[in-house]
Amino acid sequence: MKLILLGPPGAGKGTQAKRLEEAHNLIQLSTGDMLRAAVAAGTEVGVKAKTVMEAGELVSDEIVVAIISDRLDEDDIKAGFILDGFPRTVAQARALDGLLADKGMMLDAVVEMQVDDEPLVGRITGRYTCAGCGKGYHDTFEKPKKDGVCDKCGSTEFKRRADDNEETVRSRLAAYHAQTAPLLPYYESRGVLKSIDGMADIEDVTGQINEVLKGI
Ligand code: ADP
Ligand code: AMP
Repeated sequence: MKLILLGPPGAGKGTQAKRLEEAHNLIQLSTGDMLRAAVAAGTEVGVKAKTVMEAGELVSDEIVVAIISDRLDEDDIKAGFILDGFPRTVAQARALDGLLADKGMMLDAVVEMQVDDEPLVGRITGRYTCAGCGKGYHDTFEKPKKDGVCDKCGSTEFKRRADDNEETVRSRLAAYHAQTAPLLPYYESRGVLKSIDGMADIEDVTGQINEVLKGI
């Protein structure tokens, strides 16, 4: 199964990708995570990406396409993957078409997570992850069962992203509408676009995605 989860920041792509990974044995490919790893490692790509990410703008197509191209050459993704946060521009979508064709792979579905802008600010400013295993949480919507202890790995260390503040969220939403929303007609015209209600609660959204997958 080869999927794209498409939606603005905070739509729930990462949350659902992690659930799909576990339930369907797929690999989450998040360009945001890959870029944050490059920033943390201080690589050449990381140095270039850091200020762009802090401003809530998009890193160049050239950089992200190169990262994804390398990742798609690895063996573990052969059984299936979920693209989370890529593509984000029509140029990236075209590049992805070329990469998949070269590697003999085809997309099964592009799942659009439809959400309203305003609640996304609260979703993003309340987001945090476990520093041990990366499991995602939210101050209100997805708390650990035991306060301050990760449900999955038991770690008591958590972190918040530098770009998860209100000002940057607004830039990221503007970038989504200007540069990423044109992907909806792009995939619609190819017959692979499936839209779901991303405003429902987390469990319900998982159910809707599973329904889409059953139909493939
Ligand atoms: P994205 O990867 O699309 O940027 P996330 O999956 O990280 O978004 O979700 C952003 C925040 O909102 C997280 O803290 C997550 O726990 C929470 N969240 C995700 N989906 C929902 C939902 N359907 N309802 C309420 N909160 C959600
Ligand atoms: P995300 O983790 O998907 O919210 O991405 C965090 C930030 O990384 C974005 O605001 C962009 O600056 C950058 N980024 C992630 N994926 C891409 C992409 N496909 N194209 C351009 N920039 C990206």
